[in-house]
Amino acid sequence: MLMKQRTAPEQLKGLQALARRLPIAHEKYRFIQEELYKQRAGYGGEQEYDRCMQEVRTEYAHAILHDLSLRHDGVRFQLDSVFIAPDRIVVTEVKNVADRIVVKANPLQFLKETPGGTRTVFRSPAAELDRKIHFLTGWLRDRGIDVPVTGLITFAHHNELVFEEEPTIPIVPNYEAPSWFRNLRVEQERLSEGEIRLLADELITCDCPYSPFPLTERYGIAPGDLKAGLLCGDCSSDRIMIRAGKKWKCLQCGETARTPYVQAIEEFFMLAGGALTNRAFCEFTGVTCRHTAKRALQHPLLRQTGTRKAAVYMFAD
Ligand SMILES: [Zn+2]
Repeated sequence: MLMKQRTAPEQLKGLQALARRLPIAHEKYRFIQEELYKQRAGYGGEQEYDRCMQEVRTEYAHAILHDLSLRHDGVRFQLDSVFIAPDRIVVTEVKNVADRIVVKANPLQFLKETPGGTRTVFRSPAAELDRKIHFLTGWLRDRGIDVPVTGLITFAHHNELVFEEEPTIPIVPNYEAPSWFRNLRVEQERLSEGEIRLLADELITCDCPYSPFPLTERYGIAPGDLKAGLLCGDCSSDRIMIRAGKKWKCLQCGETARTPYVQAIEEFFMLAGGALTNRAFCEFTGVTCRHTAKRALQHPLLRQTGTRKAAVYMFAD
């Protein structure tokens, strides 16, 4: 039974905005494009896994929770997906990488192979999984729950998997995950159906997604390097909108908007960060009229603290 859905990662949303605002000539432009590509691919793989898991039917009680961020011992760890069975908890690490993937055992290694045959080792999902299993086991122990935690690695369907040796950890394509779970042999019932549900609720309560913002700080980019201006909300063009009478017009798709400010304010918090003042708003959006800025900032979604020149705006909770 699905107990927690996945939503689009904040970082992906932020990277999309950052990619639009970073000038092509910027030294980090390529790096940010690659980050965006990786994040998109990762999320795409996770969505594929979630779709496949919709068809899981088992003879035993279970709970599925996608995307959990937990803390244990002051350390944060993120789980792509968790499956609670009566006798164990399975943590799934979902991968989506380009190229052919070659898996070697002893020691367990993951290599990417390009069509030209060049092989490079990539960060082992098994090592990532070990770390997460370790922390989740500790998290459970703190709550007096004694259930073994195991792992599963899945890859997106278009990732060609080649096993040179049989790995010690189960690795399957996303589409095989439902049958893998269906065929689990439940050996000893440690958790009843009610306990599975309680544990799922506790995991959801403790989920504390990490905010990656502001992204300029995270990626070491000066906020002043970003293109100032308002971007179109109807297309993904990176061209700045121009003033056309009382409206703003997108030169790419021709769409006009009277007040395209909320999106820009969201982008401000995701990318630049810091205190949103009238002046910061003008600098970020390229709006030159202080009164227009003031009206834009008197938005019902925003909360004002301080008055006059000291006014600072935040999104209301
Ligand atoms: Zn547009």
